[in-house]
Parts: sequence; C-alpha cells; structure tokens
Amino acid sequence: MAEMAYCVKCRAKTEMVDAERVTMKNGRPAMKGKCAKCGTGMYKILPTK
Ligand SMILES: [Zn+2]
Repeated sequence: MAEMAYCVKCRAKTEMVDAERVTMKNGRPAMKGKCAKCGTGMYKILPTK
C-alpha cells in the first residue's frame, strides 16, 4: 500500500517508502518514510479525530 506525501526536494507529491506510523512530540500521529524517487526523509501529518 503506497502512501503519498509531499517531498520538499522533488517539490511534488511522491510515493513514500518504508512508511511507518509515528507520534510526534506534540502527540499528533504522523507517517514517517522516505521519498521513493530521491530517498529524502518525509513526514505526513495524519488527521486527528
Ligand atoms: Zn523526493
């Protein structure tokens, strides 16, 4: 299952690989992974309920 996220290096939405669910310092859930094209680390903030 591919996660899409914004890559600051590609300046476009790209596929996220090695995606894992993490919790940020402020308690918000996020997806952490790497850009499939350039390998840059990327975050995707998940909506909170
Ligand atoms: Zn990229």
